[in-house]
Amino acid sequence: MARYGMVIDLERCQGCRACMEACKVENNTPQAAFWMYVFRFEEGEFPNTKIRFLPRPCQHCDNAPCVKVCPVGARYKRQDGIVATDWERCIGCRYCQVACPYGVNNFNWKAPEKNQYLDWKDKDIQTASNGAVPPYDNPDLDKPYGPERRKIAGSGHAKGVIEKCTFCVQRTDGGSGTTACANICPASAIHFGDLDDPNSKVSQLIKSRRAFRLLEEWNTEPRVYYLGEPPSVKVREIEKVKAKV
Ligand code: SF4
Ligand code: SF4
Repeated sequence: MARYGMVIDLERCQGCRACMEACKVENNTPQAAFWMYVFRFEEGEFPNTKIRFLPRPCQHCDNAPCVKVCPVGARYKRQDGIVATDWERCIGCRYCQVACPYGVNNFNWKAPEKNQYLDWKDKDIQTASNGAVPPYDNPDLDKPYGPERRKIAGSGHAKGVIEKCTFCVQRTDGGSGTTACANICPASAIHFGDLDDPNSKVSQLIKSRRAFRLLEEWNTEPRVYYLGEPPSVKVREIEKVKAKV
């Protein structure tokens, strides 16, 4: 079985945030929930400053603290490497949110709504999307996924449960397809695939270039790898996204 992972090339990322946008469209997430978030930050001191970007999805850790702390077994690790939340079991205690060192969990405060991110009836949006209306319920709350046949929290948005990046399980379940962020990136900075296959693009990339993982020293064993220079500890975030919960 494939074991998924992601490789993000920081030298290619232009910080355009198209991946954030694609994630929101694909998964219809609430305004202030960013399953993929691209940090824009400034490094160094004037006049020797540099602008850099860091896209951050859930790291789908192999040794995930969020899975360990969940008191009801709702947060679980799938055989294919995806870390998911079984929304039928989640009691909304938010322990996973506290335990995760990457800040990628979002608590769903509101009852589910369609079109909660974009109003697809808006004239400008209709012009831009050429009348296309994307699917809204990703992953479908009523559908069991994976060999475990469990229902995964996502954009059906069950109120009072935790949601986060699912590696687009609705696209990738069963071994084909890629995530919406990898699909859209105009700079080909995001790659998704089978890290257990030595011939896959993702395996080749992490062998060929200097790869690192975020907070590796915490022993979380993330399945997301970055290529390029790790961000320094002294950075200033700029252009933060403003959104209402
Ligand atoms: S779409 Fe690609 S280039 Fe744009 S911010 Fe995301 S990773 Fe960077
Ligand atoms: S990044 Fe956070 S939520 Fe995702 S698997 Fe790791 S600990 Fe869990």
